[in-house]
Amino acid sequence: MERSPDPPTPREVRLRELRPGDPPVEFVARVVAVERREVTRKSDGGRRPLLSGLLTDGTATVRFTWWDPPREGIERGTVLRAVAPEVGEFRGRPEVTFSWKSRVGPASEAELPRVDPTSLPHRPVAELRPSDDGFRVIARVIRSAERSVAVGEERRAVFEGLLADPSGTVAFSAWTDFRLRPGEAVEVVGGYVRSFRGAPQLVLDERSSVRRVDVEGLPPVDSILQAPPLLMAEAERRGGSGVFAVEGRVVALLPPSGLVYRCPQCRRSVTAGLCRVHGAVTGEPDLRARLVLDDGTGSVTVNAGRAETERLWGTTLEACRARLRELPDPATLEGELLEAVLGRRLRVRGTATKDDFGITLVPESLEPTEVDLESTAEQLGARIGVGRP
Ligand SMILES: [Zn+2]
Repeated sequence: MERSPDPPTPREVRLRELRPGDPPVEFVARVVAVERREVTRKSDGGRRPLLSGLLTDGTATVRFTWWDPPREGIERGTVLRAVAPEVGEFRGRPEVTFSWKSRVGPASEAELPRVDPTSLPHRPVAELRPSDDGFRVIARVIRSAERSVAVGEERRAVFEGLLADPSGTVAFSAWTDFRLRPGEAVEVVGGYVRSFRGAPQLVLDERSSVRRVDVEGLPPVDSILQAPPLLMAEAERRGGSGVFAVEGRVVALLPPSGLVYRCPQCRRSVTAGLCRVHGAVTGEPDLRARLVLDDGTGSVTVNAGRAETERLWGTTLEACRARLRELPDPATLEGELLEAVLGRRLRVRGTATKDDFGITLVPESLEPTEVDLESTAEQLGARIGVGRP
């Protein structure tokens, strides 16, 4: 009688070696993101628990899905040994599913593979794309600041900033304090890339390591923070991330601009006495201007805050509120703001984000540039009807 062959012994691999369709494998990796959900079964309406998230071992980060996981004990930071997971593919990247056929359980830190940083490919920051991992970056820290964010019920510190190498800049966020200081040259290993407000962002976590390096050829901090203005078409081509300056003319004012009311708790604008997070609140008055700047190659939106708006408008929040008490129509105020800014040439340096509507800059500096006589004449002409057919 012939015995059926034993199933092949799983081969231990690194995450970057995972390929759909390979014989059974085994790996050790850390959970870097995890979310617990329940999925309703179509057959009987019962609820089936599901964990999903990201695993990394320093060579790659892969998505995982875990059906009927343990009730507890699996959280961010947990090291797992997974034997015989199903390896699939999503958008060309491997991902794993743990089902009844797999054996998955906690493992110790010591079982995590040691990754030799020099074995990872060096990547220019401008070439990083969302969900990339398993690379090395050598860059200068341009800025770094700590921010406190709400994660569920608790507050956590996150360190955010900007890295630059000769190819360009990339924003980063770190959940661990790597004590990054502006000006330092660093080699970063074990980060991964996510999409944040439409731009790639390098994410560093406990698995990442940062080493100070002594290398030539990285751009100095000032060359990034004080670089001459970019053409807007070039800013769009770069994907709109990072910190840069543009120079252009105000061609439009987007709502809400002018006198706005903000939620005292979260600073979101309040519409009809309602904050979309905090409900009914007493809005606090503020001034803002959402300016569309155009330089002939493209356009960007500039979100000017109170101080910049007051300066451009030549009026103060208090004066606006006083005027409002006398004005029959509050829209008059917005019209006056438009009048004050339209056609002005501005140089704006700030942090860019990108969405479906294009690039938005949050200004760190905003300066009117010298009067462009030709166009001023043109505008005056247009206003008084000269030069039109
Ligand atoms: Zn609010």
